Amino acid sequence: MRTSCSSIALGIVCAPIACCYLVFASCFCPGHLRQQEPEEKKRFERRQRMAPRPLPVRPAQRTLTIPVPEKSMCLEPRRGRTLDQSQSRLIGLPLELRQMIYRCVLGDSTMHMILKEERLGHLKCKAPSAVECRLGFNGRTLSRECCWGTFDFANIWTPMNGVKESTDGNIIPFLSTCRQIYSESINFLYSTNTFSFSDLDCLRYFSCTTLPNRFNMIQNLDIEWCMSWPIYDNIAQQLLLNNPALYPPYDETTWEETWRIVANMTNLKFIRVSLLYVDGFRDAACEAKMLAPLRKVTIPAKFEVHVSWSGEEVTDAPFQLIRPILPEPVSDDESL
Ligand SMILES: [Zn+2]
Repeated sequence: MRTSCSSIALGIVCAPIACCYLVFASCFCPGHLRQQEPEEKKRFERRQRMAPRPLPVRPAQRTLTIPVPEKSMCLEPRRGRTLDQSQSRLIGLPLELRQMIYRCVLGDSTMHMILKEERLGHLKCKAPSAVECRLGFNGRTLSRECCWGTFDFANIWTPMNGVKESTDGNIIPFLSTCRQIYSESINFLYSTNTFSFSDLDCLRYFSCTTLPNRFNMIQNLDIEWCMSWPIYDNIAQQLLLNNPALYPPYDETTWEETWRIVANMTNLKFIRVSLLYVDGFRDAACEAKMLAPLRKVTIPAKFEVHVSWSGEEVTDAPFQLIRPILPEPVSDDESL
């Protein structure tokens, strides 16, 4: 009885606040209310249809890395065969020199990982580094269209006006040249590049479509994410008319899964995270819940988290939280 009375009293107190909130949100944030669901749902369903398939559990019968397993050679004697490459002038160079060439061709760049229809792709960054790659907001999400080309409403890469834009950084032909070159050079691709993600699903798909030993070679990660309002805010989510309130990848489950994957990457040395959250956090507790999964990432020597909103200083985390520098308030004396 006491509980029901409390509920009624709470309802009476909260109802005007909820009404004011709904009126405010429908006036100023209509995308968050009634009109959001069809668009969010449509986007989610297209992304589900176009999701890359994970690697099969059983090992592939055809391998590129030498030495080729005997079983593979028996099953596919032509495809599994290795040929003498001694006439190649590249192979004739000392291994140290070949490795310098491999690294120059495949490594030390930033690879923007992108979603394509039923697979992943990458675009080699045109800027000298990920930090210098100009980041913008296209009204829907973070955007680097100078490097990325064009994307549809579901953030899936789309050739512009039917013109075939080049993707995949022109590195696949080099890797497919011969089995020895592939075997000697593939590690440089993963260990020396910075892998840049602007879509959490992209990182999840990359982890399950790449061989685990290769994925674990990655040392540098760059993650940019435009969080959806109102992540980790149960009260605000209950007021939304969407069901679910937040569709993946903007939900808390995807966020936590992403950081579970990152926490298990054993060779990480540097992570730079840029988080954009237009509305800011309602209170510090919501922000603390959002940052909690990042605290499990303890391996990298340098871990920067840049956020677009102001708030309390965080000093007890394995990452450095960097907030925007706000302009000093102008005093009355100075303004005169
Ligand atoms: Zn770029």
